[in-house]
Amino acid sequence: MTSEEAAPVPEGTAAGEAGGVGEYSDPDVVVVGGGVAGLFCAYHLRRGGATVTVLERGGLGGPQSCSYGNTGFVGTHGAAPLAEPGMRSLRSLSMLSADAPFYVKLRADRELLCWLRHFGRACTPTAAAAGFRALIGMKKRSLEILLELCESPSIATTFESPGIVLAYKTAQGFADASRAVSRTVANGVPLRVLGPRELDELEPKTRFDIYGALYNPEGAYLHVPEFVVEFGRTLREMGVEICEHTDLTGFEVKAGKIERLQTNRGDLRPRDVVITAGAWSTECARMAGIDLTLQPIKGYSVTMDMPPSGPSRPVLLSEGRMAMVPLGDRLRIGGRLELAGMSTAVSERRVRGMLRTVNEYLPDLEETPTRETWSGLRPCTPDGVPLIGRTGLRNLLIAVGYGHIGMGLAPAGGELISQILAGQDPTIDPNPLQPDRFDSTIS
Ligand SMILES: Cc1cc2nc3c(=O)[nH]c(=O)nc-3n(C[C@H](O)[C@H](O)[C@H](O)COP(=O)(O)OP(=O)(O)OC[C@H]3O[C@@H](n4cnc5c(N)ncnc54)[C@H](O)[C@@H]3O)c2cc1C
Repeated sequence: MTSEEAAPVPEGTAAGEAGGVGEYSDPDVVVVGGGVAGLFCAYHLRRGGATVTVLERGGLGGPQSCSYGNTGFVGTHGAAPLAEPGMRSLRSLSMLSADAPFYVKLRADRELLCWLRHFGRACTPTAAAAGFRALIGMKKRSLEILLELCESPSIATTFESPGIVLAYKTAQGFADASRAVSRTVANGVPLRVLGPRELDELEPKTRFDIYGALYNPEGAYLHVPEFVVEFGRTLREMGVEICEHTDLTGFEVKAGKIERLQTNRGDLRPRDVVITAGAWSTECARMAGIDLTLQPIKGYSVTMDMPPSGPSRPVLLSEGRMAMVPLGDRLRIGGRLELAGMSTAVSERRVRGMLRTVNEYLPDLEETPTRETWSGLRPCTPDGVPLIGRTGLRNLLIAVGYGHIGMGLAPAGGELISQILAGQDPTIDPNPLQPDRFDSTIS
């Protein structure tokens, strides 16, 4: 493809300044997708000496990406897979109700039904415990990588570690969570029960109407999208080519290998390709003839001016499956799980429901102007564990399926990709992450 044939690129973008991707010499590795998954692959590959080009359909750190408007929790908190033993019954009324924290819109779609079958199988105590072990190992390694990365002054401003409060509205919710504390601590997560006085001391401005609370002093979070933007800048300084507004459109496959990769701005012939296109990874992999068992689970966030009585650290509204994070002069609330296809349309009804939930936990929180309402598609596997590694094509790898905790998993996932390509011993166990572990013929 010549650059005359390429689609126009918005002015002022890095790719726009540099011209079509064909103007670069072919890199060792092309990473498809410039969300947190792709950026961490590029980071580790470049540190290992590879030349790397990242292709991103939109602008880096833009709202099209799930890495844009999330609540940014990283660290040891939140390693439980979505597939919990209590969720086994898909007929459960709460999952089929549009107002439920986890809503499944059933439709006659072979891939969705296959995903749901695998999800049902993952909702056992044994599978959930195995998922937790895989995820907590990745989260711990990811935190180490993040702490090192965040020594860089420009990125350091986007990282905070003030601990996290887990608030429980109901006696049942608090009792269940308290029972699990010793097991969680045994798994290396420093969780403890927080007395009402301690909560007042931690959050003197905020009044909670809750039954009880837990506290994880290691709770940390990233300000997004600022982290993504700063990280992208660092990667460019390291020599990574980031092509924004550049869309993967196809692959030329020959003899079990990708020969050529086509984009709206020209072709590339890299040695290896890594797909990290989040919820869109299914369509990207399909272009190479690879099926993925992956579904988008939509979530919402509302970012508002910080209310005077807003919390000073992250708070999880546990039964509501929602989170709140302070971002300087803003407060972001995020949540909802909607398994309902690829649409990113924002439902006002769902947003109103989220604000009602916040009000139940923090009844005195003042109403302040909304700065942004956003929705994003979490790329989710049925067992909640990502798909990372080689595929059926010799030079095609994937790092996808980070689900509801991708900010906290992607650093270790990117490291694993670079170790696989370099033939090095992996730091984390790659076995639970095998890309071919789901049988896509189940329907
Ligand atoms: C409301 C909400 C709250 C969340 N809170 C947290 C949290 O507190 N902590 C946490 O760890 N995680 C959280 N998450 C999950 C986290 O946001 C995701 O796991 C993570 O962002 C996924 O990153 P990704 O890079 O895989 O996908 P994305 O960020 O979506 O990136 C994929 C990129 O690929 C690009 N792309 C797609 N197709 C193509 C193509 N053909 N060519 C080129 N580029 C392409 C897309 O434009 C996109 O930018 C939350 C998610 C939501 C929705």
